[in-house]
Amino acid sequence: MTWRWADMGIHTGIDSQDFSILYKNEEECAAAIIAMKWPGGFICPRCAHTHCSRLTTRRIPLFECGNCRHQTSPLIGTIFEGTHLPLLKWFQALELFLLPDGISAMRLSQVIRVTYKTAWLMLHKIRHAMGEFDARELLSGVVKVNNDLYGYDPSRCQLSHPHASVVVAGCAVTESGEPERVKIHLVPPQNRTYGERASRHDLAEFITGNVDIHASEVQLFPLAFRLYAPLRKVVREAWQSLKCTYVALGRKHLQAYLNEYTGRRRLRQSGGERTMRQELLHMCAAIPTISYRQLTTRHRHQIFPLPVAAA
Ligand SMILES: [Zn+2]
Repeated sequence: MTWRWADMGIHTGIDSQDFSILYKNEEECAAAIIAMKWPGGFICPRCAHTHCSRLTTRRIPLFECGNCRHQTSPLIGTIFEGTHLPLLKWFQALELFLLPDGISAMRLSQVIRVTYKTAWLMLHKIRHAMGEFDARELLSGVVKVNNDLYGYDPSRCQLSHPHASVVVAGCAVTESGEPERVKIHLVPPQNRTYGERASRHDLAEFITGNVDIHASEVQLFPLAFRLYAPLRKVVREAWQSLKCTYVALGRKHLQAYLNEYTGRRRLRQSGGERTMRQELLHMCAAIPTISYRQLTTRHRHQIFPLPVAAA
């Protein structure tokens, strides 16, 4: 079976070499995940032996170590672990996730024919992989840090923005001074009244957690009226994009959506569409999954902690 977005009334704005062309069936999807997980060939997670036999009686192949006989699935330690869905549906979701403004769970559920809850969970798992992956890489070089507001339109009266959120945004800049890699972090409210900005402590905390200070020259913009304009523009664009796809976005998962926006922006900068897809798949194969329960009980402004490195 092959599927084309154009047939479903969806125009990706990227080329036609999408996942649907690259991977046509379950075997090819599984092979792509296996290649991402073990790029240098099989490694037993228990004894590091490199020879195995492949048991193909199951939907997803199982590998048995030639030394200790441990059996392992290539989906273990990936966001696909424990899934009952065909991998093709996952690959369709990955492709749609890469649309310029992403895709809502409602729309995804209609396009790939799964329930709303399943679509919601799939998108959050992909988002989780992207956020975790991004958190591992620090900003370096010339880094600019703004004390900004998300969801704030300066052309409107301040009172009309009761939901604007305080954020610290940072970016590495290119030689021509444009924002390259961007991180936008929500600052927990902690009795903040509207209009307040992040404190010096919040800014310092952002720098400690997100900037490689030994390899960077950090320029701080703590004052609202003197922000680094190109970075402020990215924060506004994030708001516009998320607003257009996710209409009513709760604050509980807002950090995950901001990570999605900056992560996708980064992937789109990374080169051709093929690279973009491979990088997203790489993230999904390298980050252990997150459960529905973990997602629904997580804290409002939680910036994801680093997981134990995947084997
Ligand atoms: Zn083994």
